[in-house]
Amino acid sequence: PSVLTARGLHARYGGFAALGGVDLEVRPGRVTAVVGPNGAGKSTLFHCLAGTLRPARGKVLFDGRDITRLPAHARTRLGIARTFQQLAVFPSLTVEENVRVGAEQGRGGAEEAVERALALFGLDGTVRARPAAGLPTGTLRRVELARAFAGDPRVLLLDEPAAGLDTAEVSALARVLGALAADGTALLVVEHDLDLVADLADVVHVMAAGRIVASGPPGRVLGTS
Ligand code: ADP
Ligand code: ADP
Repeated sequence: PSVLTARGLHARYGGFAALGGVDLEVRPGRVTAVVGPNGAGKSTLFHCLAGTLRPARGKVLFDGRDITRLPAHARTRLGIARTFQQLAVFPSLTVEENVRVGAEQGRGGAEEAVERALALFGLDGTVRARPAAGLPTGTLRRVELARAFAGDPRVLLLDEPAAGLDTAEVSALARVLGALAADGTALLVVEHDLDLVADLADVVHVMAAGRIVASGPPGRVLGTS
């Protein structure tokens, strides 16, 4: 069963068709990846799913319910959490305070969820009390992931989660995201790092010119098996 579904999504910027009819299913316990060249429409699709862009045509469904017109914050409340390509942590808040914001915006809000998220992303040591400003990129990515996860989401939408990470951090990221999927979370990852996609994804969709042009397991779609 699909928890988040795109059905016949079209999106435009003025007269330009950025999405030309996209169908996609994001399923619990799976990592679904979207790859493709710059300009293919990946971010546009992401925005339509997150609720930050209204599609011109088509539908977004959550558990079969039409949420096409539901704004982003209401989707977060339902259990659709996201991370940002441009890191978006609050610099003056501590790591822990940033993660608590995620818990409050999401479904749960319980202090346990904050602790679980901090621990899962290796942020439960002394770093939790440090202001986010000045922390290295890899750590900020983890803060952002922990913030999204602290809301107890059913769907995690990740926009380029490996951007700015070194090889060791990418492997750590793959491990943690794999564990979240194994736990039943539905993950959608828009990612340039094809090694991460090959490692992590259960299904890969290749976009080009606003459409999905190939779909399947990473070994087949990326030619790595
Ligand atoms: P990707 O994420 O795959 O690089 P995008 O979804 O960002 O692709 O962009 C798809 C197409 O839409 C590109 O041709 C891009 O130039 C265009 N586009 C994206 N955002 C805007 C915008 N705000 N206004 C006009 N055109 C845009
Ligand atoms: P260490 O030097 O102990 O590995 P790190 O800060 O690199 O310290 O990582 C601490 C924990 O956070 C690791 O156990 C790892 O599982 C996790 N981790 C590291 N990098 C990432 C990442 N980019 N995304 C998610 N989890 C990560």
